[in-house]
Amino acid sequence: MEEVTGAQLVAEALKSQKVEFMFGIVGVPIIEVAMAAQAAGIRYVGMRNEQAACYAASAVGYLTGRPAACLVVSGPGLIHALGGMANANMNCWPLVVIGGSSDRNQETAGAFQEFPQVEACRLYSKFSARPSSLEAIPSVIEKAVRTSMYGRPGSCYVDIAGDMVNAKVSRSNVRDVSCCPPPPVSLADGTAIKEAVSVLRAAERPLVIVGKGAAYGRAEEALKELVEVCGLPFLPTPMGKGVLPDNHPNCVAAARSRALLQADVVILLGARLNWILHFGLPPRFDPHVKVIQVDLCAEEMGNNVRPAAALLGDISATVSQLLEFVRKDGWTFPSNAAWWSTLREKMAANAKMTKALALQSAVPMNYYTVFHHISQLLPQDCIIVSEGANTMDIGRTMLHNYLPRHRLDAGTFGTMGVGLGFAIAAAAVDSSQGKGQRVVCVEGDSAFGFSGMEVETMCRYNLPVIIIVVNNNGIYSGMDAETWSEMSKMGDLTTVAPPVTLLPDARYDEVMSAFGGRGFLVRTAEELREALQLSLSDRERPSLLNVLIDPSSDRKQQEFPWLTRSNL
Ligand code: ADP
Ligand code: MG
Repeated sequence: MEEVTGAQLVAEALKSQKVEFMFGIVGVPIIEVAMAAQAAGIRYVGMRNEQAACYAASAVGYLTGRPAACLVVSGPGLIHALGGMANANMNCWPLVVIGGSSDRNQETAGAFQEFPQVEACRLYSKFSARPSSLEAIPSVIEKAVRTSMYGRPGSCYVDIAGDMVNAKVSRSNVRDVSCCPPPPVSLADGTAIKEAVSVLRAAERPLVIVGKGAAYGRAEEALKELVEVCGLPFLPTPMGKGVLPDNHPNCVAAARSRALLQADVVILLGARLNWILHFGLPPRFDPHVKVIQVDLCAEEMGNNVRPAAALLGDISATVSQLLEFVRKDGWTFPSNAAWWSTLREKMAANAKMTKALALQSAVPMNYYTVFHHISQLLPQDCIIVSEGANTMDIGRTMLHNYLPRHRLDAGTFGTMGVGLGFAIAAAAVDSSQGKGQRVVCVEGDSAFGFSGMEVETMCRYNLPVIIIVVNNNGIYSGMDAETWSEMSKMGDLTTVAPPVTLLPDARYDEVMSAFGGRGFLVRTAEELREALQLSLSDRERPSLLNVLIDPSSDRKQQEFPWLTRSNL
């Protein structure tokens, strides 16, 4: 009679649920699980910190719509992964974390790395459980995979006791659990659709907001039709960028503040009215704005603003319902409306200001010059990963996305340290799909530091990621080398150095070359262009461009600070 181990059951169950990737770090008690995963045909990517492994797994979920697994050891291993679980849950991305834990017969005895793991994960997940027996493993894993994708996507946790990993059971005693189908699709209520259409038809200043839910929901085709058939201006959220191309004539991203402030009707597609959208409230929105809210999560309806129409359903399906109505009577928003002139005027003024900053030729460079040159060289189909403060904010406005799900960033939770894990995930997915799209990871120097050792992971697997560190010697801002050295004469650095500072001119490029990747130190626009072109031509190895910029470079004057303190 054929026997199977717990490790095999975990791996085979994941594979039957079409989990194609596993990221993790092995150790007692889960080494055999990683080996069994490889034997089952799952791609296993060994990382250097569980947090980065968990970020990577969650990005696969977002990019493919099917969760990846993150495999971690007990106690501290699992705790390191909590950041990734929280980040996935906040972003509404599917993820399955598999954690080894101490042997069941040592529980409460002070076992090695003993920790209440199932309880600990509850706050960071939709589902957290431990199979009660080897036989129960396939159904618990199916439930975790299904729960991670169905309803509002999020993270799930499955705990595997150490003694279960190598224990054996007869295969004939284990029930086969077939692969769960993709999430069922729901349509919005017909009355709500009618209401939405009547609100939209009365709009003088309509605005479509495209969130990362629209990207995750693969709503690009329906949305393109809506925007083009109705002639509506649209604004992507950070990760909603690319669902419709940033260079689409109806994209009003360059007039973001004005569009939000003056819109009288907002069609909110897969975005939450949280801090990213300034809660949908004054001073950033009109107090009387009417919101047509589309979301698959009923509890989301009415958060911060009571919607004029609540369309509960899948975005793609719901937008098609809207289109059907609008098509019937041929309504379109007039292209000669005053609203368009208001938006276009603001966009032109912003473009002019940005261009002036971008064309400055001073060395060290400012952010705008750096992004101007990068944007000229990046291929349109590249996946842009970005994190940092100014680096992410300015980069978002200057680096265009042309395809859906081709931008990954700090997201809803504002997490720093996600970049390298996300980039590894995107490169691994690309390599499995054979598309040959480049992954470009644009990092602030501080953001890079959180998971910098994952450069070794990129080198080990020959993932040709291009990391661009926009290095201003600090968090928000830094100091030049000369000022730093003056300051170190003033006393103990731990008492005199501003907490925002990092080592001036740190050689992050040498971290990459230490592992066999290509490292470039870049100070001028010419050096930047040359290094980026060389990196793009190398499809075998990762590169890191360490771009030293003016440590006092800042954003152009903003109408509102990025973190608006609305009165709720
Ligand atoms: P952003 O950060 O772009 O503003 P959020 O993560 O805040 O986006 O919001 C995404 C929203 O999309 C969530 O409320 C989620 O429930 C919703 N969502 C995800 N997938 C779908 C889908 N297929 N159909 C409808 N809503 C979706
Ligand atoms: Mg910095």
